[in-house]
Amino acid sequence: MNSCGDLKLDHPHPEVQDTAACAVGGLPEGRMRQLGEVAIPSALCAEPKNGAFAPVGECIYCGQTKGKLTTEHILMYALGGNILLPKSSCETCGKRTSKFEQFIARDMWGMARAALKYPTRNKHRIARGYPVIAQPKNTGAVKFLMPADKLPFMLAFPELPLPGFFTGQTIDTFSAKAVQCRPERFKPFGNQRVYIGALDLQIFSQFLAKTAHALARAQLGSTFQPLLLDVIAGSRGSASDFIGTLRPELEAEDATHHRMQLVPLESGGQHYVGALIRLFAHFGAPEYVVVVGGTGDKIHPVFAENLRNLPPGAWRPPLFFPYGQGGGSA
Ligand SMILES: [Zn+2]
Repeated sequence: MNSCGDLKLDHPHPEVQDTAACAVGGLPEGRMRQLGEVAIPSALCAEPKNGAFAPVGECIYCGQTKGKLTTEHILMYALGGNILLPKSSCETCGKRTSKFEQFIARDMWGMARAALKYPTRNKHRIARGYPVIAQPKNTGAVKFLMPADKLPFMLAFPELPLPGFFTGQTIDTFSAKAVQCRPERFKPFGNQRVYIGALDLQIFSQFLAKTAHALARAQLGSTFQPLLLDVIAGSRGSASDFIGTLRPELEAEDATHHRMQLVPLESGGQHYVGALIRLFAHFGAPEYVVVVGGTGDKIHPVFAENLRNLPPGAWRPPLFFPYGQGGGSA
């Protein structure tokens, strides 16, 4: 994979224990037990109206109610995220989430975003052309500007085992999966190395954790016990405890850029709130599962009962982000 820039490409292939009990709605294969449709009362599982959920009134990351609370994009604006959660982030937490989301938007997927003409607050810079770094054999790297419609781009994703939360295994290295998006645009570069972006598992995990947590707070309110706050704050060592690749080889989904969905997870007889997140689904990207929270005492009895009696089918309809079509709710 000579066009992957500074991606880390170790191949640990950690074996996932067969005893891992991770159950996800709508998955027939292997140890993933199929769970089912649960009729969640609408008050417990909200849907956005006109692209926004009801205002929260406290910081969903630290609980602060005083001071200015800003609106969060559940999926960041830079990826076309158009569903809002008003009054949900304090200034301090807002700065932190912006910082890691900026890494994803610029350093990791900046080139892909430019090529796909995703929303940007920096249109002038993009109009001049996007900086491409290429390295011909045996010479130094060269940097030049390219128009968006000629940009070569490839998306890179961390490949992870199931969350350590279920397997009891912590990882310290990971492999990367590169999804070729416009292979023909690499042809003019011959065998030069082309820098496609940077990948940082810690930051990527923070970003997925933030997105999943915001989705759960939007749809379930505070009826679950959040597990991701330390991951989002960056104070937890191994974010892969809570985040894993669920289905690395899924078919591309027409028209859907991004998809995310809350699902019930079950391990050792305990129930948890999980989220499935698939970004760039139309390019055949991997799907991640995120362990979002526990369903202990805090959970509403109706919700808890529903989790215990799971008939076949899907649990919650996913939210789709077909960029450019507005709205965003399926
Ligand atoms: Zn906060």
